Amino acid sequence: MEEGAGQVSHGSPHNGPIPDREILLAAARAAALAAYAPYSKFRVGAVVVCEDGRQFAGCNVENASYGLCLCAERNALSTAIAAGARRFTAVAVTCLDADPTLGPEGRSPCGACRQWLLELAPDATVHLDGVARPYTPRELLPLGFVLDRANQTA
Ligand SMILES: [Zn+2]
Repeated sequence: MEEGAGQVSHGSPHNGPIPDREILLAAARAAALAAYAPYSKFRVGAVVVCEDGRQFAGCNVENASYGLCLCAERNALSTAIAAGARRFTAVAVTCLDADPTLGPEGRSPCGACRQWLLELAPDATVHLDGVARPYTPRELLPLGFVLDRANQTA
């Protein structure tokens, strides 16, 4: 199979073990280097791991019309969804330019991305660069909006 845009080249396909947190964070850092962030100068990278072992990376993409900016997490998820992925086991996010004096709030997904994670990757373990403990999407967004209760997983 031809490797798709945004797909990370390493990682074993088809039910391989979930990659180590540090490997995923390293891939997220590499993705962040491609960020288009001329306005905020805040580069973000994300990697999502599919149930079948495929990994997809995304970076933030800004725009002069600020409201059109796209976050790395939604970029990675969109790329994976477009490749046919539907279930995710892990997500890694890094903010290369985060203020080192800030805690998790300075390097964690925004509200919009939390809503995306809750709906698209509810069972994923979320690793944040610089934050020791992992999170679930439900922890990140306890009262996230659900339109279809039949599809609610938590
Ligand atoms: Zn976001």
